[in-house]
Amino acid sequence: MSVRDHGCPRTRRGGLLGDHVRPRTRPAGPVRPPPRPGPPRAARPGLARRPAAGAHVALNVWPPDAPLLLRCSPAMPPARDCPCCSGLPYARCCAPYHRGEREAPSAEALMRSRFSAYARKESAYVLRTLHPDHEDRKRPEAEVMREIRDATSTLKFMRLDVLDHDGPDEAGFSHVLFHARVFEKGQDRSFIELSEFAHDGVGIRYRSGRQLAAAKVADPKALTIAAFQALL
Ligand SMILES: [Zn+2]
Repeated sequence: MSVRDHGCPRTRRGGLLGDHVRPRTRPAGPVRPPPRPGPPRAARPGLARRPAAGAHVALNVWPPDAPLLLRCSPAMPPARDCPCCSGLPYARCCAPYHRGEREAPSAEALMRSRFSAYARKESAYVLRTLHPDHEDRKRPEAEVMREIRDATSTLKFMRLDVLDHDGPDEAGFSHVLFHARVFEKGQDRSFIELSEFAHDGVGIRYRSGRQLAAAKVADPKALTIAAFQALL
């Protein structure tokens, strides 16, 4: 997710962990993803397409003002657990990446670390892990940083579920599909995003993302990358 109009599907350019792509509106209610496909997926074109504008994000029952202790509920992990919901203590999960001691070893690890960076207000890390190709790299850095800080202060990052991942493919791109539970002033801004990652010579970096409001998907846990692309 990039930072302009910081992280949520209602915004003009989308969400937090990926491009700020606004979810497309569907005429009917929740859509059911097609069944999980069998054999290996081919390279996935179409990631550059943007969905149409017009999102609707419904309220749900997740407590918007729940403290850190309730993150990743219902497991109710100790507060020291990493906000990326890995089940590991923060110190042994995303903290070394945030402190610059190590590079995330995979696209999934990087995505998790970006989510936990938003949750823990590690704004510099969010900026540092943008790929040079990311659209926010074309903008003044101070402006982007201000938007990241705004996002970390106004949004509550409650839970992360990684739904699917692939790559790197022959072009070096990896993808991660995830469900982020995010709230803003009592309103559910949760979304599902397909993020794209690539190595920039130093580490794996976030390149772009496409989102749908989570309320638009009947059964997020059953979603695959191929099924998500079919919904866009
Ligand atoms: Zn973590």
